[in-house]
Amino acid sequence: MSPKDAHGIGGLPPANEMTPMFRQWADAKRRCPDAVLFFRMGDFYEMFFDDAVLAAPILEIALTARGKGTATAAPMCGVPHHAVDAYVAKLVERGHRVAICEQMEDPRKTKGMVRRDIIRVVSPGTLTDPTRLDPGAGNFLASVSGRGPYGVALCDLSTGELVLAAAADAAELADVLSRYDAREALAPESAAAELRELLPEIHGARPLVTAARDDRFEPAGARERLLAALRVASLAGFGCPDDHPAIPAAAAVLAHLAETQRTDAAHLDRLRVENPVRTLQLDQATRRNLEIVANLRDGGRRATLLEVLDRTKTPLGARRLRAWLLEPLAEAAPLNERLGLVDDFFQRAELRRAAREALSRVRDVERLLSRCALGAATPHDALALLRSLEAVPDVRRAVEPLTSAGAERLLGQLDPLEELTSLLARAIADEPSSSVGDGRALRAGYDAALDEARDLTRGGRRRIAEIEERERLRTGIANLKVGYNRVFGYYIEVSKANVAKAPDDWERRQTVATGERYVTPEIRELETKILAAEEKLAEREQELFDQLLAEVAGRAGRLRGLAAALAEVDATAGLAEAAALEGYVRPQIDDGDALEIEDGRHPVVERLLPPGRFVPNDCKLDEGRRILVVTGPNMGGKSTFLRQTALIVLMAQSGSFVPARAARIGLIDRIFCRVGASDNLAGGESTFMVEMTETANILHNATPKSLVVLDEIGRGTATWDGMAIAWAVVEALHDDPRLAPKALFATHYHELTELQATLPRLANAHIAVRERGHEVVFLHRIEPGPSDRSYGIHVARLAGLPDKVVARAREILDRLVVQHAAPTAAERPGAPLQLALFEPERPERDPAEDEVLARLRGLDPDDITPRRAHELLRELKERLQP
Ligand code: ATP
Repeated sequence: MSPKDAHGIGGLPPANEMTPMFRQWADAKRRCPDAVLFFRMGDFYEMFFDDAVLAAPILEIALTARGKGTATAAPMCGVPHHAVDAYVAKLVERGHRVAICEQMEDPRKTKGMVRRDIIRVVSPGTLTDPTRLDPGAGNFLASVSGRGPYGVALCDLSTGELVLAAAADAAELADVLSRYDAREALAPESAAAELRELLPEIHGARPLVTAARDDRFEPAGARERLLAALRVASLAGFGCPDDHPAIPAAAAVLAHLAETQRTDAAHLDRLRVENPVRTLQLDQATRRNLEIVANLRDGGRRATLLEVLDRTKTPLGARRLRAWLLEPLAEAAPLNERLGLVDDFFQRAELRRAAREALSRVRDVERLLSRCALGAATPHDALALLRSLEAVPDVRRAVEPLTSAGAERLLGQLDPLEELTSLLARAIADEPSSSVGDGRALRAGYDAALDEARDLTRGGRRRIAEIEERERLRTGIANLKVGYNRVFGYYIEVSKANVAKAPDDWERRQTVATGERYVTPEIRELETKILAAEEKLAEREQELFDQLLAEVAGRAGRLRGLAAALAEVDATAGLAEAAALEGYVRPQIDDGDALEIEDGRHPVVERLLPPGRFVPNDCKLDEGRRILVVTGPNMGGKSTFLRQTALIVLMAQSGSFVPARAARIGLIDRIFCRVGASDNLAGGESTFMVEMTETANILHNATPKSLVVLDEIGRGTATWDGMAIAWAVVEALHDDPRLAPKALFATHYHELTELQATLPRLANAHIAVRERGHEVVFLHRIEPGPSDRSYGIHVARLAGLPDKVVARAREILDRLVVQHAAPTAAERPGAPLQLALFEPERPERDPAEDEVLARLRGLDPDDITPRRAHELLRELKERLQP
């Protein structure tokens, strides 16, 4: 059931039967029909009708009814206001929207109905609650305009990031959304249904598509609307052309946020243009198969490239590194700048240590800033921001002595924001309370009026304690105590046994299980004073705190620049740390055509093995040698070799050092990594179809600068079909000059090794195996030339197949080799090849056949007349059919 279906306004009684409260509820509901309405009533948010029926089981709260037993009984459930964030997040994580309808007036000061209004609509793309967000990943709301080509704006409300991207078709659109992990996509009403069909699953769920008015996406005037929302005069400063296709989408998402968040998102003040020509393209299948940030087994982070490389100290750095790995560079200059910075930190271990120590005191500045700008920050958030700012000078000290161009640039960006730091240091208490209003958020001495209000409340409470002590002495009731509750205010409580000792000047107020409660005029008078002082204290503290948040929000641009620089220091220092720990080297990057890896290792597999056990391998591909066909026994290490090559390229182009003795990499524009269906049994759909679709995608998009990695492609179908397809794909990659990528091809189809005879830029390699008596030892070493195909049977024996079966397999194999000497390269498959495995025991060869063959062999067709040829044919045929 989609959230939309679940929330008709149906079920409501006619307006004239409704109480004023329900009329107000229905009004609000009408404005957000597709959201669960949280309707504030005193200390609770209540849900009614279908909302209540939908939410109660998800939130695990009781479903009750308002006006039970009457004709207008309404299903209802509610959550306490102080815990609302967790409940909202629970619904949102399940793909629902939640509209928060607040009381806009103080009920104590209002006669009649309190005015209520929707202040915020929370959806998967607009969650900002830090306890619910993955600190290492962004939380993006996408906005999509057009119908292919598409303009895509991606907005992370929790960090204030706004990115513009473009997508030529549906596949690219899916790609952009999955790269940013978008949980929600905004689209024009008229295109929403179509988009719902089209979007792929990301982490097991399709993004929630939210419809917005079509005119929001109107291209005319979109640029002006965007300029106004960003409060800038030109987009040129962001490197964004005035005709960028995502401008309407960006204008739409900002308008949508202004409406649904009811807060001026002041921190959304910059944008970044994604420039596809400068980055290494990785499609979704490639990212999945290379296990960059999520593993294939359960989608988690374990045993991924990110897990090995992520040595960052802050969520800022973690998000940055993740983005680098998902969107590596394809341009030498910026890449060498990044590598230079990593190298700097790699060479200077003491500065790396100092930078990382300082960074460990830095918190999630981007998200803290967002919460300040949205007015949602707590005193703890303000303190976290202060501690982060206080660490900046130390980060600067660690970057200053570095010599690379990148370090110099970063130093300029590490803005210490001294005035803001000293303001927060003066204002925020050392151990502030978690909410504003009790006088413990701000420091004594920061504000005279606040100090006075605080002294008054403290004085009042002290007076209460004095009264307690005095009355205890006066009455001799040792367990007498003064308490407080919201209904009766301050009272003296006496246990049942001592009630007789209560003096006459006490007024009885309340009887409770444990005894009696009294008040006195003195206490009542004091109480009035205390409450007034507390109210004043709360008001003043809130006022001052709001001012502080405004000071922070007013520096949003500078803070975001600082956060970006801190992220970069953290990510590069972290990469240097990983390089030092794992024994990586700096790759040489250039615009050439070579891919030369000496003693390369797989960064993840090597860590799963005992130290020193991973066998390094070279990989050399260049203009004259573009395709490598790798054969070898199962479990020999073909997949590992293929993937490590792709990962080394990806790491290098992300700015990381690489697991090798040396590596020279001519920049790659796209990596395609495909894994044959039978290696990937997870999906329930036709895996072969998926495999072929993905392969088709390579044949349409690869370029001479691409790297193609095909692991056992064609395995998901009948043997000869699969081989024929694999054969044809290799030929196409080799022969079509528009494609001609570098390619690594692992296969069980031994026949493919014959391609070497006709394809000059193709070479064979195999995984070396050593036989020791009856044992087979995998050396995991890549050697030139095709493998000896009989290793499959050795491996079968190794796996414990009975000797009899192994012997029979060898017999069958020998016969197959004789019968169907694999198609020679000249023939190429096409002639129907059939496996004779299931034929009955074959009789000895007929001597007539041998004779016919011998005669044919001894014949020179150029030497006989057509007439003689015809006669001969008849003779031979007769000989065979006596
Ligand atoms: P299959 O054909 O069955 O898919 P494969 O030839 O692709 O097998 P891999 O999956 O790459 O084999 O490797 C199997 C195992 O061998 C790995 O999990 C790893 O433990 C080990 N291995 C692979 N390469 C190496 C290596 N270079 N050094 C040490 N061990 C390795």
